[in-house]
Amino acid sequence: MAGSRCEDKPLAQSSELHPDPYLDLCIGAVGDTIGHFTMRCFTPIRLPIVLFMMAGLFPSAFAAAAPQIDPVYGPLPVFELHSGFWINLHHRLYEAAREQRNTASPSAEKSGKTAKPTLQVSLGAKNALSAAEQRAWDDAVAYYVANYADKDLLFSLELVLLKNQLGDFETCEELSGAKKKTCDAGLPAKLTQILDAAGPVYRAHGWSADDRANRAWIKRAAPLVREQGVGLSHRLADIYQTRWPTERIRVDVSAVANYAGAYTTLDPLRVTIASTDARNQGAAALEVLFHEASHGIATPVEQAIARECRQRDKPIPRDLWHALIFYTTGEVIKPIMDTEDDAASDRALPNGSGGSDASPADSRSLEETQYTPYAIREGLYRRGWENYLEILTRYWQPYLEGRVTFDDAIAHMVSAL
Ligand SMILES: [Zn+2]
Repeated sequence: MAGSRCEDKPLAQSSELHPDPYLDLCIGAVGDTIGHFTMRCFTPIRLPIVLFMMAGLFPSAFAAAAPQIDPVYGPLPVFELHSGFWINLHHRLYEAAREQRNTASPSAEKSGKTAKPTLQVSLGAKNALSAAEQRAWDDAVAYYVANYADKDLLFSLELVLLKNQLGDFETCEELSGAKKKTCDAGLPAKLTQILDAAGPVYRAHGWSADDRANRAWIKRAAPLVREQGVGLSHRLADIYQTRWPTERIRVDVSAVANYAGAYTTLDPLRVTIASTDARNQGAAALEVLFHEASHGIATPVEQAIARECRQRDKPIPRDLWHALIFYTTGEVIKPIMDTEDDAASDRALPNGSGGSDASPADSRSLEETQYTPYAIREGLYRRGWENYLEILTRYWQPYLEGRVTFDDAIAHMVSAL
């Protein structure tokens, strides 16, 4: 397995589920086949210092909003789930800008595709955009093409700060502070103007469908978080030999997010999850939530792997820590989901009969009823992580079962590389 040399690298600033097909800069640099990034690929920066320096750019969010939670479930433990207007608009514009940039590229022109800046949401025939609305939307997309389409939502500090700021101002009707002083989000003037012009268009033509999708996702995920959230957070913190954050982790549920369908940024720890992404549905919602949150607490594992590597003068295996948190979340969630599934099957059968008493026609095969962890289902181990899966199954699994210590498991994994 190719990897970068053991070297001091800044901690990952943020992380995401999938390799980015557009960002292969690092992949080439380290010769790996799976494209998950860490900050080692970028100019090292000390994020807290940079954030401090940039603090003047964005005034603090006086307008910080209460989470939008389905009243049926009330406040949840562990996570704070939001469906915020500006974050959703931001990701919609970013998506439209990326699409336009891609269709305008020389290769796309060759293939006959042309750019068409349109509102990327379902619009009823009666609900067509007026000429002025179309202009405002197209201007916003053009601004995003010019300023953000070439930047990554996860690795651009500018985009991370912007995303966080838009989250904090989610209840504001506009961002200039013209109507309400506390709603001055302190964004660059042109961006404020662009968003304040595109906002009403999105509100009229796309937001209600997106908000509905977000709330439906939250409503489906909430019972699992309520039942299992605290237990899972303790278990994962124990595994990673750390503490779970005392504050609930903010999760911005957005109709669309990045190419991976979810990403996490640190300092502060915030998760963004796409509610309409097929990979994040059903039972997978809980795993995606905890996988993403694990990015905020798995630092001891990443450090232990690097330390062990240095001691043995071995290359630091690229992304082993990331494969490890995929593996761990999957293994921890699996028995819970299998139990949930059994309970659901039992509930579905008349008179509570089920399990071994059920006729073969009532019973699904073992394979069908067992939960498949995300990384297996999405084929991540087949894209360059085959070796990692073997090592994790052999040396990390015994640690999860309490048969070896954390340090021994890490040492064995690294020596097996
Ligand atoms: Zn991840």
